[in-house]
Amino acid sequence: MDHLLEVIYHAVDFIMEVNLISDTVTRPSDGMLSAMQEARVGDDVFKEDPSVNAFEEKVATLFGKEAALFFPSGTMANQTAIKLHTQPGEQLICDHYAHIFNYEGGGVSFNSGVSCATIQGDRGRISAQQIKARINPADFYHSPKTSLVCIENTTNKGGGAFYSMENLQEISSLCREENLALHLDGARLWNALVATNTNAQAYGQLFDTLSLCFSKGLGAPIGSVLVGSKLHMEKALRVRKVLGGGMRQAGYLAAAAAYALDHQLADLKSDHIKAKELEAALLKKSFVKSVAPVDTNIVIFELENATSENTFFEKLSQKNIKFISMGGGKLRFVTHRDYTESMHAYVLEVLDKTQL
Ligand SMILES: *Cc1c(COP(=O)(O)O)cnc(C)c1O
Repeated sequence: MDHLLEVIYHAVDFIMEVNLISDTVTRPSDGMLSAMQEARVGDDVFKEDPSVNAFEEKVATLFGKEAALFFPSGTMANQTAIKLHTQPGEQLICDHYAHIFNYEGGGVSFNSGVSCATIQGDRGRISAQQIKARINPADFYHSPKTSLVCIENTTNKGGGAFYSMENLQEISSLCREENLALHLDGARLWNALVATNTNAQAYGQLFDTLSLCFSKGLGAPIGSVLVGSKLHMEKALRVRKVLGGGMRQAGYLAAAAAYALDHQLADLKSDHIKAKELEAALLKKSFVKSVAPVDTNIVIFELENATSENTFFEKLSQKNIKFISMGGGKLRFVTHRDYTESMHAYVLEVLDKTQL
């Protein structure tokens, strides 16, 4: 019997390919492809694509905001928001792990001529108190004028951590008192919504603008949305055009994103459960030094010694399991909707058997 299991275990190696690199590796589901095929489309640059228009309205309503704008990427949505809220020479405040600071190609300075005052927060999360200490006094003209605060929820480099509502409310009140704009990079806000069982409007009312990705855990091939006031979205339309983000029959993409929202949002729960189980499996291994707390779908861990990192990569690679290093000894697994139950069982089995 044992022998038979061994045979199956090795046979499976040849067919199973597991990608834990990111939740962006998903492919459209059959239902999504049908929704795309059936979409009514027009030229969205003339704002004549009915699927895009309906989708923008749907997302704006979901967050209790006046308007929304569809973007090809989360980066472009964030960069547009930063442009809306700042003037060249000004400064924004964010965590030192922030995506806008680390992973948007220097767009903050390239597109908006803005610098970042960074804060060492807790797994990518910053507090109202920390923000307050970083605001340059409005009348002190020697320093850049602070005009914007950017929050990320859930955090990417921070390992999928989410904010408590109280902390967000404190930050929102502070920004109103200090006359600062507040933007949420909500690429993975969906994961926070599902993990905390909070409704989207509760977040909508705290921020001036929010960006949301549909091509991460939700499983659409492309697409992000920026939501905010009507006036902000009118200005955003021009910025998006300047950045080259005006798209024509984008309704095919909006249909995919709308399908994701309607049919795939609740599935994030099982990504979170699998991530927790991976955390538990890793904690059992003597060669694993630590695993960062797992709150949603991202598992960040470190090995006991740096030299074992290559061996671990090699061993998992031999089993067709792909993942990445985030540098500085931090390794990462990200669960997603194309990481199936059988793949999960397989990975748990491989981890159980792996010795370094
Ligand atoms: C993925 C991501 C984005 C946007 O990335 P794109 O690849 O441009 O869609 C923005 N912020 C965070 C936190 C992300 O994880």
